[in-house]
Amino acid sequence: MDTLKTRNIGIMAHIDAGKTTTTERILFYTGENYRIGEVDNGQATMDWMEQEQDRGITISSAATTCFWKDVQINIIDTPGHVDFTAEVERSLRVLDGAVGVFCAVGGVEPQSETVWKQADHYKVPRIAFINKMDRMGADFYSVLKDIRNKLSVNPVAIFIPVGKESEFKGVIDLIEMKFLTFDSETQGSKIDYLPIPEDYNKLAEEYREKLLDEVASLDDDITELYLSGETISRDLIIRALRKGTIEQKLLPVFVGSSLKNIGVQPLLDGIVDLLPSPDESIPLKGIAVKSNKSVIIKHDTKGPLLALIFKIQYDREAGPLCFVRVYSGVLKKSTSVLNFSKKKKERVNRILRMHANRSEELNELSAGDIGVVVGFKFSQTGDSIGLEGHQVLLEKMDFPEPVISVAIEPKTLSDREKLKKSLEILSIEDPTFTWKENEETGQILINGMGELHLDVLTTRLTSEMKVDSRIGKPQVTYRESITKPVEMEYKFSKVLAGKEQAAGVKLKVSPIETGKESLFVNNLKSRGVPQEFLDSIKDAVYNCFKGGIRMGYEVCDMKVELTGIDYNEMTASSFAFVSATNMCFDKACMEAGPVLMEPVMDVSIVVPSQYVGEVISSLTKRGGIVSSMESKTNFDQVNAQAPLSKLFGYSTILRSATQGRGTFSMHFSHFSVKN
Ligand code: GDP
Repeated sequence: MDTLKTRNIGIMAHIDAGKTTTTERILFYTGENYRIGEVDNGQATMDWMEQEQDRGITISSAATTCFWKDVQINIIDTPGHVDFTAEVERSLRVLDGAVGVFCAVGGVEPQSETVWKQADHYKVPRIAFINKMDRMGADFYSVLKDIRNKLSVNPVAIFIPVGKESEFKGVIDLIEMKFLTFDSETQGSKIDYLPIPEDYNKLAEEYREKLLDEVASLDDDITELYLSGETISRDLIIRALRKGTIEQKLLPVFVGSSLKNIGVQPLLDGIVDLLPSPDESIPLKGIAVKSNKSVIIKHDTKGPLLALIFKIQYDREAGPLCFVRVYSGVLKKSTSVLNFSKKKKERVNRILRMHANRSEELNELSAGDIGVVVGFKFSQTGDSIGLEGHQVLLEKMDFPEPVISVAIEPKTLSDREKLKKSLEILSIEDPTFTWKENEETGQILINGMGELHLDVLTTRLTSEMKVDSRIGKPQVTYRESITKPVEMEYKFSKVLAGKEQAAGVKLKVSPIETGKESLFVNNLKSRGVPQEFLDSIKDAVYNCFKGGIRMGYEVCDMKVELTGIDYNEMTASSFAFVSATNMCFDKACMEAGPVLMEPVMDVSIVVPSQYVGEVISSLTKRGGIVSSMESKTNFDQVNAQAPLSKLFGYSTILRSATQGRGTFSMHFSHFSVKN
């Protein structure tokens, strides 16, 4: 595969900005769909899970392939709702570029800011599409300003609109200086290239100047031509814009109305012309397993195989469908590969490429490409795969902690096993969803990122997996931790089947910095203890982290050091070491000032300035601490931290306190001692 001819892109947007509609149009104009599916009557192709269609929002990052002018475009769908940040996060990892869709009326909403910042974190080059120019109140130029102010980027219009609202007629191409109209009879497929309407000449000149100013600053050839007043070719302008986009010095802006079929093909040209191919994207970092050294993964079709599983979707017939992105080498059908993260061999039974409404069988997938592997049994989202001898772990994805939980029970007792199996499948697909059964009471708790997240998952249980269940009231998920270091020794000894089994451990438990994963460290000086037993101790400690201290909540912010060991060749066994470790851990933690920890959220609220006082007092009442304030035109943004338990129903309270004009978004920050 010629990677110069591939674009791996995502379409990012605030809910309702028109991401699904725009994707639908892209699939239509690229010939993937023969007719246009409308979101509003639940036909959209990318929303392939039934209930997404009911809700009219897109949750899964399914990858879909289409072709535009000989270039293969793999679209990785990214959800817009902050409850699904893990989905956004995982798709951003495998993208080389993205299109940010904005509503011409709403502009940059707080949630788009959240997603935009995540994309900044992964340094994803972007272009923007200002959609819904046909809507009442559409204002292209004010959205341009909004983008500059809120997203700290340099927006450069490549197209400007002609008319707006019901009078929105088409777009002006500032490079070719042509007016493009889209024939409604052919659903916008036929484009007419007309002279710029006279009353738009001045505006078009002004914005072309701005565009040329920007590209001239990026390319010496253009500067020379520009200064000497000579014509600058389209190719030169595109070359400079492409460079500026990839280096993220500017944000090219396109405009249109997906619903009215205006402006989508120029956006497709923009994807091909301006966004990077896999070999131009920033190389990833990984860790070589053998040397434990950091390595840079260069795009290389001839190198050793290295791929990342970025999404798993469960298919009732085929089993897990593993969406992979190959970074190096070639993944071949009917071969075995090694899952480095799980240290397990996996078989590549089939490779598929997903199109809008069909899948295509492939024999191989080369570096830079995205596809689906069928046949993997042990793999999970975030795992790295490749060949023995070339083991590299790609940087782990950062998944936020599940912070909300609800109790769930099957409607009939006979469904209990089915429920557990289905929960297992859902947690394989989504690392931010976990579940746990209380051994004593039998109660099952499911944990997720937010109320909507759990709601979506429980609906899938009923509609897709056909398990009827009842769910309780959402509550926050707690953790347990300790407040002071304690060192303790414990010796276990028991006669089992006439044979003595004995072992002793000395453990030091101490609190560590907030937000760090709990960890086990072997600080033993003496050698000669078989590795098998050391591994048993380590595994036992990690199980203890999961099991909690007093209340059965997972342990956070804790370090356990193994500082001593009592080992006798004759009586030692893994069982004895595990038992000694469990007892020692429990006793040490009980002495170490155990505490209950609750999730604290980063909250960001945008309100008209006159309501700031009320917002701050409503936050303080809920134990919130304001960390910063930013003033925007007419609006203020309040950033704060507050315990999640106090934020249930807060959006309703905010709405009534601000006459519906305040918006709020939040994401998990850390666990803190519950007051
Ligand atoms: P998503 O949530 O970002 O995927 O947004 P959708 O594509 O589902 O669109 C949300 C709503 O906006 C739907 O009712 C669409 O029909 C509507 N919509 C999308 N694009 C446009 C547009 O260009 N103009 C107008 N007027 N409505 C649009």
